[in-house]
Amino acid sequence: MKKTLIKPLAGISIFLIFVTVGLVPRISSGLGTTPSGEQAAPQSTILSDRTSSPSPNNSEQFVPAYQALHESGELAQRAQLLWAMMESCNLCPRSCGVHRLAGAVGFCQAPGSHLVVASVQPHFGEERPLVGQGGSGTIFFSHCNLRCVFCQNYQISILGRGNRVSIEQLATSMLQLQNFGSHNINVVTPTHYTPHIVAAIDIAASRGLRIPIVWNTSGWERVEVLALLDGIVDIYLPDMKFASSEESSQFARSPGYPEQTKLAVQEMHRQVGIASPDANGLINRGLMIRHLVMPNEVSGSIQILNWIAEHLPLDTYVNIMEQYTPHYEAFNFPQIARRVNMDEYLSVVQHAQRIGLTNLDSRTARWLRN
Ligand code: SF4
Repeated sequence: MKKTLIKPLAGISIFLIFVTVGLVPRISSGLGTTPSGEQAAPQSTILSDRTSSPSPNNSEQFVPAYQALHESGELAQRAQLLWAMMESCNLCPRSCGVHRLAGAVGFCQAPGSHLVVASVQPHFGEERPLVGQGGSGTIFFSHCNLRCVFCQNYQISILGRGNRVSIEQLATSMLQLQNFGSHNINVVTPTHYTPHIVAAIDIAASRGLRIPIVWNTSGWERVEVLALLDGIVDIYLPDMKFASSEESSQFARSPGYPEQTKLAVQEMHRQVGIASPDANGLINRGLMIRHLVMPNEVSGSIQILNWIAEHLPLDTYVNIMEQYTPHYEAFNFPQIARRVNMDEYLSVVQHAQRIGLTNLDSRTARWLRN
């Protein structure tokens, strides 16, 4: 069957404008808000109307992981379990213990149980097997549970730029991305809104969502929370940012990051396995690790690659990223106040090849051919 490859740009532009200025049309809410203004807990009631059809860009045989849990009703139950965790919030390794359901704010600065979204758009700069022809359907969430001093998205993650939206609006955004031809729903910095996202997937699944969920995370995740995503997420896209607690503490205010992330990545691999492309070159399921090389070996690239080779299969997908650029407060730290030079980057990629990692991202692997 001939596939629709190009969507009208005008439609995308209008959609982006809607999201940017918070004009996504409101739809009737089954959840509503409580008198305090906090969002009410997700109910197992689902909307039965269908506002979209499955993406023409994805294999007709593909069945997303969440479909079975949606049909059994367990997806809604998982959302409720996750929602209850906000009563003494331990959705991430910070375990702030704040009562987000009563409006309290923890380290991540998420405003109580409200959901804040910065942008919704088909994205063409992600890994090629996620982008294909139709783009990766990215949803950027505001606020973050890390505090990276070099964050390129600090206006969103630290300053909290974005609009409050309902869970139904989030579900509608997922369906709109699917209708635009995106190959997946790519939730960026999702951890502190895990309950909202799972509830939205349940609603969207009832209305025809059929493309995979990409959990695009800093890697700073609790294994216990990831276990509740088992059977929901098809693609895990975690960072492995730092090998040393000293650096993760200094540059991301997360002293336990390296060890916690290793546990999380192993759990992700257990759930979804190796990421390999289908006949169309798209990845619909699997673990895809990102590692950003930083100047002066600050991110511990060699140690991280060695750990991957020793603890995961050698064909684990790894994207060794070269694009580090100082942003935000990075200029206060001389050792990270510049870009990575070619020798630094190439030595890391060559090390990956030397230790036998075989499933390198194409943009990484091209350095080995030049
Ligand atoms: S999600 Fe936010 S409030 Fe909850 S534990 Fe993490 S940082 Fe704290």
